[in-house]
Amino acid sequence: MKTHVKALVVGGGAIGTSIAYHLARAGWSDVMLLERDELTSGSTWHAAGLLPLFNMSYAVTHIHQYSVDFYKTLEEETGLNAGFSVVGNLRMAQSDARMDEYMLYAATAETCGVHYEWMSPAQIKERWPLVNTDDLKGAIYHPEDGYINPADVTMAMAKGARQRGVTIERKWQADAYEWTGSEWRVTLTKMVEKGGNLVPSDEQTVVTAEHVVTATGNHAQRTARLLGIKMPAIPVEHQFIVTEPDPALVAYRKEGGAEHPVLRDADAKWYVREERGGWILGPYERGAPARFPYGVPDSFRADLFPLDLERIEEEYMSMIHRIPSTEEVGLKDDFNGPICYTPDGNPLVGPAPGLRNMWLAEGFSFGITAAGGAGYYLAQMMVDGEAEIDMASLDPKRFGAWMTTEYACRKNEEAYEHVYILHHPDEERRACRPLRTAPSYDRLKARGAQFGVVNGFERPNYFGPLDAPAEFDHNARSFRRGDWWQYAEAEARAIREGVGMIDASAFTKHRVSGPGATAFLDWFTCNKLPKVGRINLTYALTEQGTTRTEYTIVRLGEDEYYLVSSGALTDYDGDFLRKAAADKAGEFGYIAVQDVTTQYGVFAVAGPKSRDLLRAVIKDADPDTALSNKRFPWLSARQIELGMCPVNAVRVAYTGELGWELHHPIEMQNYLFDLLEKAGEEYGLKLVGARAQNWLRQEKSYRAFGHELGRDATPLEADLPRFVDMSKEFQGKSAMEALGVRSKCCTLLVDGPEDADPWGHEAIYDQDGTRVGRLTSGGFSVAFGKSIGMGYVSPEMAEPGTKLQVRMFDQLWPAEVAVDSPYDPKNETIRKDG
Ligand SMILES: Cc1cc2nc3c(=O)[nH]c(=O)nc-3n(C[C@H](O)[C@H](O)[C@H](O)COP(=O)(O)OP(=O)(O)OC[C@H]3O[C@@H](n4cnc5c(N)ncnc54)[C@H](O)[C@@H]3O)c2cc1C
Repeated sequence: MKTHVKALVVGGGAIGTSIAYHLARAGWSDVMLLERDELTSGSTWHAAGLLPLFNMSYAVTHIHQYSVDFYKTLEEETGLNAGFSVVGNLRMAQSDARMDEYMLYAATAETCGVHYEWMSPAQIKERWPLVNTDDLKGAIYHPEDGYINPADVTMAMAKGARQRGVTIERKWQADAYEWTGSEWRVTLTKMVEKGGNLVPSDEQTVVTAEHVVTATGNHAQRTARLLGIKMPAIPVEHQFIVTEPDPALVAYRKEGGAEHPVLRDADAKWYVREERGGWILGPYERGAPARFPYGVPDSFRADLFPLDLERIEEEYMSMIHRIPSTEEVGLKDDFNGPICYTPDGNPLVGPAPGLRNMWLAEGFSFGITAAGGAGYYLAQMMVDGEAEIDMASLDPKRFGAWMTTEYACRKNEEAYEHVYILHHPDEERRACRPLRTAPSYDRLKARGAQFGVVNGFERPNYFGPLDAPAEFDHNARSFRRGDWWQYAEAEARAIREGVGMIDASAFTKHRVSGPGATAFLDWFTCNKLPKVGRINLTYALTEQGTTRTEYTIVRLGEDEYYLVSSGALTDYDGDFLRKAAADKAGEFGYIAVQDVTTQYGVFAVAGPKSRDLLRAVIKDADPDTALSNKRFPWLSARQIELGMCPVNAVRVAYTGELGWELHHPIEMQNYLFDLLEKAGEEYGLKLVGARAQNWLRQEKSYRAFGHELGRDATPLEADLPRFVDMSKEFQGKSAMEALGVRSKCCTLLVDGPEDADPWGHEAIYDQDGTRVGRLTSGGFSVAFGKSIGMGYVSPEMAEPGTKLQVRMFDQLWPAEVAVDSPYDPKNETIRKDG
């Protein structure tokens, strides 16, 4: 066995094998794939092999699309048939809301180049007469996917990997990882058979590797323990059953009927496909329990759990309803295996928190579908530094250090159960809530707050009726304008016309200080650093020149900075910042990085009357001038006192109105809330949620991280040259310049349907009906009285006045590129003196 490799991939399931293959294909020939048992002996062995293209996430859709295309090429490359049956995939809808969901999904599919067709119940019946279409509204059909043999496709990838120089070692288990400062020393133990179990022998060896990837499937908890990190990848039981041959199906096929596509009755929560004259039914039922929260027992190899038929009775009956011929057919076989999940149902792909050259590819629930694409994009990240798509939504650090085993179990069970629920874009899931709350939570709730979750943190989305029933928010959801819309609209108006207050406590906050802090941040971010007492908007770039993180930097002192970034990705930002600071300390001097996210709450007070409100509570020798432009200019920060609360006040407003962010000690939050609420009575202060804020920031063309800003576009492509100081050197600068401006961000005013706004997933077309880009945000503009969106098109098309179209609900709606910051383009209201 080799004792040194460039990359060691631990885990020989579909995922690890694909990663090894793709690393070799990307040019790393010195790769070892390690498997404690036999290839495919983990979860891959149980899989039904479906390859659904359907997914609401942009990144995952790209991953699935790559896999489906790639698997079709494997036989030619390796000579091994991966058993890909391209039978297509028919997702049926029982309700109009389900059809709305498919139309929203189709928007994402289009932007990823995924082909789909619409089918009416009559068309379905004509092609597949065994399907009962009586209660169907229609279906979306993917002709290009289907199902594959999971073991065969893995073996084909393994052969392809070997052909490209990868070595595969079986019956060796990775048991310890040690980072020497430049490489990993991985201790391996030879595994042996004993009494039907696979157990460690006394034989050990050490392999050193520059990079390690873990793809350990259901063993993720053991891997996390060995690495000393947390991973919310815990399996849930998943069962499928195989029926005896169905005489009606056998007859239909005998008469020349085409094989059924994989049928999905999403409202009934199942998939069905043909299997040797019978059917496979795979339900995603309620009540499937999480398993092995602390690790897989040695005695569990390719084992299965007993079938729980009672749990899937409802789905079973609904299969009989949909395919009446199944009523008389008996059961032939059943599978109940552990399927790995994460709290949001997406895998963990990317660098491990706190560790160098350690990559995770864990928590795959659709791992056969995802393997090809996950291997391809992870290999890009490792070999080239970044993937061509933004992988932030799959980053392992999107779940913070606050995450626990119990949380992961409950959320993973919920994610499993939600596979087929309506994926409303305004959905907020219920499990494990409330968990992380700011002190004002109860007060906000008592005032009608309907909360959403950011990184586990409760944040008001909007303020509904005071006497709202418990189900209010659930029932308010829609693919169109939900019942919450009117509340968000009133809140947005309040900020434009009066004064509103937003709880923005979930923001990520870091304090960066020390002798090396200034030189470090100057290199780390692309804008000029602010002077003491001032603030700047700036970006930290990837090595590829794309946007890694957006920061508002407040300079508290010569060598002391307060960095505010998106609340969704605290650990992602912190990890990147700490690693970069450690790397550069030798060059720049000591740099202290402290995550102070939970030490400070934030109330954003904005609107034409915000100054009057704050003046009423500020304690200052001259309260009349304390908030004037002279003493407190726009884009500056001041330590002020509001009543007895010391506040780091920052004169910015993400809503684009006159306003201040009030960063305050979290333990004084309720005091400050009461003070502002009482004083606000005179000014008509309205509590405002995140949905209204999201609309308002689009009227100002403020880009949002995770939407317009991400690792697939540079700040220049985001059309933010004013925040890039080309006169200095900074991380990613030359790469950013080399990329040029491939496409450009713009703001669109959309004359959409009466009852809906775009969500930010929609495809953009030119006037001839050619697809030219995609939206990354969407909503409603109170200033213009119509829908608004932001997105990317070619630089020529991003010119103000360009007429475009946006596809919503399968129709094209007129849109026009607005000037940047269509509301108050000269920032007059923000800069207003008083
Ligand atoms: C009943 C069922 C049906 C499913 N149907 C589908 C489907 O239709 N479509 C689909 O896309 N997905 C399906 N899945 C999910 C799919 O099986 C998984 O997502 C996929 O197999 C995950 O692959 P993996 O490589 O991550 O994990 P695994 O296949 O579990 O591979 C991990 C490997 O790592 C090895 N390993 C672990 N720790 C170590 C160590 N320390 N050292 C060395 N080796 C180690 C294990 O032995 C194992 O072989 C299904 C799952 C189940 C249970």
